[in-house]
Amino acid sequence: MTEEIMYDVVIVGGGPGGLTAGIYAQRAALKTVLIEKGYPGGQMAATDTVENWPGTLSIPGHELAENFLNHAKSYDLNILQGEVTAVEPGLEYHTVRLASGDVLTTHTVIIAVGGSPRKLGTPGEDKYYGKGVSYCAICDGFFFRDKTVVVIGGGDSATEESLYLAKIAKQVYLVHRRDSLKAGIILQERVKADPKIKIIWNSTVTSINGDDTGVTNVLLQDIKTDKKSTIETDGVFLFIGFNPNNQIIPAGTPMDADGYVMTNCKGETNMTGIFVIGDLRQKYAKQIVVAAGEGATAALASAHYIDSKKGSPQAIK
Ligand code: NAP
Repeated sequence: MTEEIMYDVVIVGGGPGGLTAGIYAQRAALKTVLIEKGYPGGQMAATDTVENWPGTLSIPGHELAENFLNHAKSYDLNILQGEVTAVEPGLEYHTVRLASGDVLTTHTVIIAVGGSPRKLGTPGEDKYYGKGVSYCAICDGFFFRDKTVVVIGGGDSATEESLYLAKIAKQVYLVHRRDSLKAGIILQERVKADPKIKIIWNSTVTSINGDDTGVTNVLLQDIKTDKKSTIETDGVFLFIGFNPNNQIIPAGTPMDADGYVMTNCKGETNMTGIFVIGDLRQKYAKQIVVAAGEGATAALASAHYIDSKKGSPQAIK
C-alpha cells in the first residue's frame, strides 16, 4: 500500500455488509479496497446455521460467509488484512489510517465493522474467559461434549446457540432474566421443545465460579423472589446482545444513546462520502439480509457521488 493511491471506496469490515458493498463497488468499476482485521465473514461465519437468507432454506454460517467471499473475489475485490485505527474526514478526500502505519486516501469510506459481544460484568466472567466462559458456541462448543453448559440471554443469539450447544452437550440451562423470550417465535418453540434445554426464567447469574480446571458452577438469583441457587456447570456462554464498534467513527458523527450511528437512507453520515452500514448503523432489524442490502445501497450511493464529483455524464440522478 502506498500513500499515492487515491481510492474511490475504502470498505472497512468484511462481514455481509462490507462484502456486498465490495461486490457492488467492483461491479460499478470503482477503485476499491476492503480492509478486514480477521477473516472475512463477520458474525455470519460464527453462526451455526442460517435459515433466513432468502433463496437458501438452510446453510451453515461459515459456508454462507465463504460464498460471500468467493463472490467478492470473483469480481477481483482487493481484500487486505489490517486494522483501521482512524477515519479522518476531509473536504477533498478522506483519510483512512491503519495500525501498520499505512495511510489510504479515498473519495468515500464505507464503515461496516458491526459490534462485539456485550459483557455481563459479573464476578468470574473475565477470570474464567477461555476456561469455560465463552461468547461463541461455534468456536468453543466442541469442548463441552457430553458436559453441562449455562447459556445467558433471551434473544435470537441465545436461543440459536442453545440449540447448537444442545447437539453437543449433555445439558443446557438457558438462564433468562424475564418470563418470556425475546427471540423469534420459531426459535422459541424449538428451544422449548428441546429435551436437553431447560429454561430458567426470571433469573440472573450473579457470579461465575471455578477452580484451576475452569468453571465449576454459577450462582443464580431469582429476580422475583430473590431466592439464590447454584448450578453445577462446565461452561458459561453469554449472548446478551452486543456493543457497537464505533471507535473509528469520526468525531461529530451523530449516534443514538446506545452508540449506533445515525445515517440517511443511503447509509451516509452527516459527512459527505462517509457511510456506515450493517449492525453499527441505527436500525430496526440486525440481519444478514439487511446488512447486505445496506452494503449494496452504500456502494451505489458511492458510485453516484464519485460520478458527480468527477463530472461523469453518467451520474445517476
Ligand atoms: P438481543 O436481541 O439484544 O438480545 C439480548 C438478550 O440478552 C435479551 O433477551 C436481553 O434481555 C438479554 N440481556 C441483555 N443484557 C442482559 C444482562 N445484563 N443480563 C441478562 N440478560 C441480558 O441480542 P442478540 O440475541 O445477540 O441479537 C442481536 C441482534 O441480532 C438482534 O437484532 C437479533 O434479531 C439479530 N440476530 C438475528 C439472528 C437470526 O436472524 N437468525 C441470529 C442472531 C441474532 P431482555 O429481553 O430483558 O432485554
